[in-house]
Amino acid sequence: MSHANLSGGFRQIQRHDALFQERVHDAYKAKGKLPEPTVCAHCGAVLHAARGQWRHAPATAHQGTCPACHRIHDHYPAGFLTLKGTFFQSHRDEIMHLVHNHEHHERAEHPLKRIMEVEEKDGATLVTTTDIHLARGIGEALHHAYQGELQFHYNPEQNLLRVNWTH
Ligand SMILES: [Zn+2]
Repeated sequence: MSHANLSGGFRQIQRHDALFQERVHDAYKAKGKLPEPTVCAHCGAVLHAARGQWRHAPATAHQGTCPACHRIHDHYPAGFLTLKGTFFQSHRDEIMHLVHNHEHHERAEHPLKRIMEVEEKDGATLVTTTDIHLARGIGEALHHAYQGELQFHYNPEQNLLRVNWTH
């Protein structure tokens, strides 16, 4: 996986910045000009108006690939959540349980919000996601549960979000 896209275009934002109104031309959403309804051949998400929803696909549904599966296939995350610090290391299992729980809960309603990979990197844990809101939501859930320091860096051109949680 290339992280070259992390080097440029990011700026730090405040937690309450209204950035998350995505006027952005997200390449993966732009691809989503799928006929409706379309069922994802990979994950089974049924897409209506480019929003994934878990429903039964009608027999007439088209087959396609949803934006989340596209990102996973291309190894191109939208959200990068970095977790580090001595508190994190000593409570890692409990904290990762919360991370996965949060995803599970979100995904139940929003099938396009998924964790892609969890990697160990330079003493930190990097969680990548298919959706910037999921990365933000996990960061806020950790901050709510354990405090610590939470930072956001957003790249509006590519609609990428980096979240750093240190504790
Ligand atoms: Zn899919």
